[in-house]
Amino acid sequence: MFDGFAFDRLFIGGEWVKPLGGGVRPSIDPATGAPWGDVAFGGARDIDRAVAAAKAAFEGPWRAMPPWERAALLRNFADLYATQVDALAQIETRDNGRAIRESRGDIGLHSQYYHWFASLADKLGGRTIPMDDSVHAFTTRHPVGVVGAITPWNVPMMAAAWKLGPALAAGCTVVLKPAESTPASSLALAKLFEAAGFPPGVVNVVPGDGTVAGARLVEHPDVAKISFTGEGSTAKTILKTGADTLTRCTFELGGKAPHIIFADADIENALNAATGSAWALCGQSCALGSRVLVERSIYDRVVEAFRERAGRVRVGMPLDPATHMGPQAHAQQLDKTLSYVGIGRDEGAQLVAGGNRIDRDGLTGGYFVEPTVFADVRADMRIAQEEIFGPVAAIIPFDGEDEAVRIANSTPYGLAAGLWSSDTGRAHRVAARIEAGMVWVNTYRYIRWSTPYGGVKQSGWGRENGLEGLDPFLETKTTIISTTGKFPDPFAS
Ligand code: NAD
Repeated sequence: MFDGFAFDRLFIGGEWVKPLGGGVRPSIDPATGAPWGDVAFGGARDIDRAVAAAKAAFEGPWRAMPPWERAALLRNFADLYATQVDALAQIETRDNGRAIRESRGDIGLHSQYYHWFASLADKLGGRTIPMDDSVHAFTTRHPVGVVGAITPWNVPMMAAAWKLGPALAAGCTVVLKPAESTPASSLALAKLFEAAGFPPGVVNVVPGDGTVAGARLVEHPDVAKISFTGEGSTAKTILKTGADTLTRCTFELGGKAPHIIFADADIENALNAATGSAWALCGQSCALGSRVLVERSIYDRVVEAFRERAGRVRVGMPLDPATHMGPQAHAQQLDKTLSYVGIGRDEGAQLVAGGNRIDRDGLTGGYFVEPTVFADVRADMRIAQEEIFGPVAAIIPFDGEDEAVRIANSTPYGLAAGLWSSDTGRAHRVAARIEAGMVWVNTYRYIRWSTPYGGVKQSGWGRENGLEGLDPFLETKTTIISTTGKFPDPFAS
């Protein structure tokens, strides 16, 4: 479907148009550091065109369409998406360097997200509110309007599925702005929406700079809601930019997830989960267990297992199906990860594996870095407090439940956490005390369309997925109707 597909046009109002601002820019393959394609970048005027198209579609054909027909279109799209998993995975991997086995696995799930949200489109009723006999009170739910969906570079297709699925099911129209370094897959997505038969303007895709196209989307008076995934600092800017229009926002932000291993855990399974999640996506995912909290009696064993497994990670070209871990997604991220290796050393943590850029045959020029392990990490060190977003595991010892919880809750983040223990009572006690939107017990990173996901503290506002994932795209209207038609004269006495 994407053979010969050119990424040098924006998708606005059902048409493939040349950008008015921004132009066409090379997209860099992080495995080589060289361009692999040319992608259209929109500017503020392109966003204005896209919002106008989304508004016209919202007020026209999309609002007029019965919800079961909207659902049918979304199912068409989901079926089409399922046939294009390989192609989308290849495009995403070219853009962000994620190992193709991971891209395929992740993107292979997304059609299920769209199907699940499609199944809810005609079930978004309100409720009747018990009152006295003089009135009938009920609520109805309505789409908020035009949604600006702003996505990050680590998981462009996943972030799009989590936003567009519920937004379209709720009856909103969308302008999708992907991240600067990973715009191509979102344009491919637009082609699938076009092929699935969506009315023009319901979905628009405009890659562009965050500070130009993203900022215009946020400040645009006709955008009712921003659904954003990215960094906390960007979310704070978005709040300020959207203040004048009181634009509703939901935020999926960063994390520094604690992965807690108690001595009574099934250690082998805990290690599988902890090492796998430390280095998945080359460390570039918000929910990864980048802090490994280990009960002191098994600390040395866990550190040794991390060191040994780091040597088994196959770092290589991301399109090779044998590769476990590709490069960092862009040069700035590579620099950031390497700078944190220096910070960890300066803070006195012990580097037990990795820590270097990989410059061996075949990988020269790409942004490859070794799977990295720091031991003897203290909870207050910067490598234990700040989101590195690289394949760097910080292993922290603890004594007992109270200390585990105190360390787990000691960062500004609260997105996800994992804990391993064979004691069910302890699992409940500790899970209840952890400040996070998602806690996994004896498993890790299990996420589905039906399970709400999102952060507390500086990890975000609101939830995506699950029934809760629809709420941000809906307004509730309360209607109260008199059953008598009588209204007393306020000045009678
Ligand atoms: P980022 O904040 O730099 O960029 C995200 C998006 O915001 C991009 O599309 C960018 O162009 C846009 N943007 C930048 N400045 C903007 C502005 N002023 N106005 C409007 N839009 C603007 O984030 P990133 O580096 O692309 O992504 C990595 C971050 O995302 C990490 O912190 C990671 O933890 C987080 N993340 C969170 C989740 C989650 O579900 N909680 C999932 C994936 C990534």
